[in-house]
Amino acid sequence: MADNHLIDRVMNRLTPGRTRIAVLLYGLSLFFCTSGYRFERRHNLINYRSFFDAFFRPGRSVWTTLLTPSELVSSLGLTPIVMESVGGITGTLGLTRRFLKHTVEIGIPSSLCTFHRAHLSMVLKNGFYPPGCVFAVSALCDGNLRSLQEISEYYPTPFFFVDVPEPDAPGGEEFLKNQLEEVYLQLSHLFRVKRPLERIERTVEIAEETRVWIGKVNELRQTRYIPDVKPMSMAWHLLNQTAQLGASRGLAFYKTLYRDLSRYGRDFPKDKLRFLLMHLPPTYSHPVVETISGRGGLIVIEEFNTLKWPPMDPKDPFGSIARKLLSIHLLGSSMRRIEHINRLACDYNVDGIINFAHWGCRQSSGSLEVMKERIQKPLLSVDTDLVDSESSSAGQIKTRVESFIEMLKAQYR
Ligand code: SF4
Repeated sequence: MADNHLIDRVMNRLTPGRTRIAVLLYGLSLFFCTSGYRFERRHNLINYRSFFDAFFRPGRSVWTTLLTPSELVSSLGLTPIVMESVGGITGTLGLTRRFLKHTVEIGIPSSLCTFHRAHLSMVLKNGFYPPGCVFAVSALCDGNLRSLQEISEYYPTPFFFVDVPEPDAPGGEEFLKNQLEEVYLQLSHLFRVKRPLERIERTVEIAEETRVWIGKVNELRQTRYIPDVKPMSMAWHLLNQTAQLGASRGLAFYKTLYRDLSRYGRDFPKDKLRFLLMHLPPTYSHPVVETISGRGGLIVIEEFNTLKWPPMDPKDPFGSIARKLLSIHLLGSSMRRIEHINRLACDYNVDGIINFAHWGCRQSSGSLEVMKERIQKPLLSVDTDLVDSESSSAGQIKTRVESFIEMLKAQYR
C-alpha cells in the first residue's frame, strides 16, 4: 500500500530528471547481473542502450516505430528507440494502468492501442527529454502516424515519415526506395553527418551479415531449445531485428544466441507439446503462459522472430532496405501471413498455435476469422491486452487453455 502511494506520488510529479535516475539505477542492476545466459544479458544491455541514450544523449536519440528501418538511424551514429517498447516496459513494470487512467484527460483517444497510449501518456506527463527527431513508417500499424505526429508537435521536434506501399503494388519498390533515400539524406543533414552514403553501405553490409545469422539461429531452433529461458522472452528478440539491424550490436546478439543454442541447447523432448506463437505475448505474467509451461508445453518458435527478406546488397542500400520491408509477411493480403504461419507450423513441427489478439489491434485480430479457416493446425486465440495486466480474466483464460491442451493431447499423443 505504502509502495503504491509512493509510486503514485512519483508519477504525479514525473520529470525527465526523475525518470533518468530510474533508468540509471536499472542500468546498474543490468550491468552487475550475472544470472541467465549470455544472449539474454546481451539482449537486455542492447535494448537498455536505447533508453540510456534517450535520457543521457537525448539529442542523438531517434524515436521510431516497430518497422522503421533502423539502418537509416544507426548508420548516422544515432540510437533508435522503438516507442511501442516503452509501452511494453510500463506493462512489465505493472505501471500501465497508472498511465492509462490519465490518457483521456490529456486528450489521447481510448480507441488507440495501449502500446501507443502508454508511451504517449509518459511523454505528455513529462517523463522524457525531447528527442533528436521522430521517425515513423506506415507499415503494420495505423497508430504509428498519429502517435508520433502528436509527439513531434508536443515538443516540437522534426518528424519523418515513410509511406510503405502494398507489397505487390506496381512501382512500389521504387516509390519506397526513393522515400528512404530522401529521408536518410534529410536526417544526415539535420544531424550534420559527413559522408552518409559511404556509411549506409557499411551499415547494409552488417545488416546482411546479421540476416545470415538470424537464418542460422532459426534453423537451429527447428531441433533445439534452450532450457530455463523465461517462456516468452524469446519473442522480444524481434527488437534486435527491427531496431538494431545494421548495428554491430545487433549482429553480436545473433552470434551470441547461436553460440548459446549450440552450447546449451537440447533436443526437443518427445513428450512435450510444441507451440508456435503468433503476434506477441503479454509483457506481464499471464495465465496462458503459466498454464502452457506448467503443463510441459514449449513455445518452439515465434512468428515475429521469423521475418524474412532477400539478401541485401551494400551497393544498393536503399533498394535493399525497400525490398526487406516489402518482403515482411505481415504486410499486404492476409494470405501472405497465412502461408507464412502454415510454413512455420510445418518447419517447426508444431502441435498447436497460440495467438494473443491484442485489444484494439487490427494487425493481431483483424483477419483472425479468415486465418482460423485456413491455418492447418489448431489455433487458440486469446483476447487480451498485452500491456495492461488488469484487463484479462485469469480464471476463464486458464480454463480455455487447459481444454486446448487436453484436446491437443487427445489428438496427437
Ligand atoms: S499491438 Fe497492434 S495496434 Fe498496437 S502498436 Fe502493435 S501493431 Fe499497432
